[in-house]
Amino acid sequence: MKLFGTMKAENGILAIGGVKVTELAAKYGTPLYIMDQALIEENITKYKNNFKSTKFDTSIVYASKAFLSKAICQLVGKYDIDIDAVSGGELYSIKASGLPMKKVHMHGNNKTNEELEMCLDYEIGSIIIDNEEEIGRLSKICKEKDKKVKVMMRINIGIDAHTHEYIKTSKHSSKFGESIFDERITEIVEKIVKDENMEFLGFHCHIGSQIFDTKAFHEGIESMVKETKKISEALGIYIPEINLGGGFGVYYTEKDTAIDIEQFMRSMIEHLEKSIEAEKLEIKKVTIEPGRSIVANAGSTLYTVGGTKTTYGGVKYIFIDGGMTDNIRPALYQAEYESIVANKVDAPAEEIVTVAGKCCESGDLIIKDGKLAKAETGDLVLVATTGAYGHSMSNNYNKAPKPAVVFVKDGKSTLSIKRESFEDLIRNDMLIDL
Ligand SMILES: *Cc1c(COP(=O)(O)O)cnc(C)c1O
Repeated sequence: MKLFGTMKAENGILAIGGVKVTELAAKYGTPLYIMDQALIEENITKYKNNFKSTKFDTSIVYASKAFLSKAICQLVGKYDIDIDAVSGGELYSIKASGLPMKKVHMHGNNKTNEELEMCLDYEIGSIIIDNEEEIGRLSKICKEKDKKVKVMMRINIGIDAHTHEYIKTSKHSSKFGESIFDERITEIVEKIVKDENMEFLGFHCHIGSQIFDTKAFHEGIESMVKETKKISEALGIYIPEINLGGGFGVYYTEKDTAIDIEQFMRSMIEHLEKSIEAEKLEIKKVTIEPGRSIVANAGSTLYTVGGTKTTYGGVKYIFIDGGMTDNIRPALYQAEYESIVANKVDAPAEEIVTVAGKCCESGDLIIKDGKLAKAETGDLVLVATTGAYGHSMSNNYNKAPKPAVVFVKDGKSTLSIKRESFEDLIRNDMLIDL
C-alpha cells in the first residue's frame, strides 16, 4: 500500500499523525475514519500557493460534499478559503460550524424554494444558478425578501470528463447547467443581468470528477474564456469572474497517476493568463472547487478483522467490521482501493484476498483480489484514500451505526464526529397505532 502524508511504520505498526493505529482502535473502536490533518492542510496550502496569478484574483472553494464536518469547516476558516454546498443540509451543517456564510457558494440542479430561501436568509456568498427555471424562482424569492444576491450561471461546455478520458460533444444530456450550444443561452443570461435583485458574476462549469486528463481542464479554460467573451460582447456587459469547478484526480491504486496539485495549478494559471490575453478579456477573479483532491488521501478507514474464510471456489475472504455502509464506492461503481494489515506492516503482502464487509449483499466488498499480509482475527486492516466520498456517502444499511471520525496530528488524536449509537439509529422511529 502506498503511504500518504504522515503515515509511517513504527515497530511494525502503522502510525498516522504520529499516533499508532493500535492506539486509535483501542481508544475509539473500529470501524474508524482517520483524518490526517497535516495532509489536508498541506493540500489546501498547495492550492493556495500555486493557483495564484498577478493578472487576476484567485479563489479556492472546497467542495464540501467530499467530506463535511465542523472540523473541516474550521480548517476552511483557518486557511481562509471558501466552501460550497448543494443542499439545505449542507448549508445548515456549515452554518452550525460557525463559518462566516459569505464563504459559502450554493450549487444544485434542483434547489428547492426552501433551500433558495435559506441561501438568502443566511446571506451566503453566491448562488450558482443551474437553469432558466431557477432564475424565475430565485428572482421571485429575492423580491419577496427584498434581498439582492450574487449569482453565477452554470454552463455545460460540452466537455465530459470523468476518469482517464474525456469526450467532447455538441449534443448534451447532462442534468447540470445550460448548454453553451443552446441558441437561447444569451437570452437566458440576459434574464439574470436584467434582474434588479441579482448581480451576475460570471459562468461556472464543472466537467466531472476524478479526472486525470489534464487536457480536458485546459480545453475547459479556453471554452470558458471564449464563452465569457462572447456573452459579454453580445450583451454589452462586463463579466468579472470565471469558475472552473473541481474534479482533479487522485491516487487510489497503481492504475491512477494522480494530478500533481502544485505543478498542475501553475499550468492552469499559465493557460488562463494566455487564454485571457488572447481574447483580450479583463477578468477579475478565477475560482476552482477541489473536493476529493483535498481530503481523499488524507482519510483512511481502520477495521478489525473478524473471521477469515477460504471458499470451496478458492477465494480467501477477510471479513471486516464495516463495509458498504462506511464505504459504498466499491459496490456503487467498482471503485478500487489499497489496504494494509496495519498492525503488521513489516509482514510481506503475499496473500491474494478479498476484503468483505458485514452487510447482507454479495457486492459488499471493499477490496477484490488485493495483496495483503496474512491477517487473522483481531488484526487491523486499514484502507487508504477513503477521505473523500467515504463518510459523506455512508449509510445505515443493516442498521450499522456510522463510524466515528478522528483527526490526528503531531502525536495527538481528536474526536471530530462521534460514533453513532444504537439509540441514534432509532431516534426518529416511532411506534404507530395499529
Ligand atoms: C463535486 C463537485 C466538485 C468537486 O469535485 P471533486 O471531484 O471532489 O474535486 C466541484 N464543483 C462542483 C459543482 C461539484 O459538483
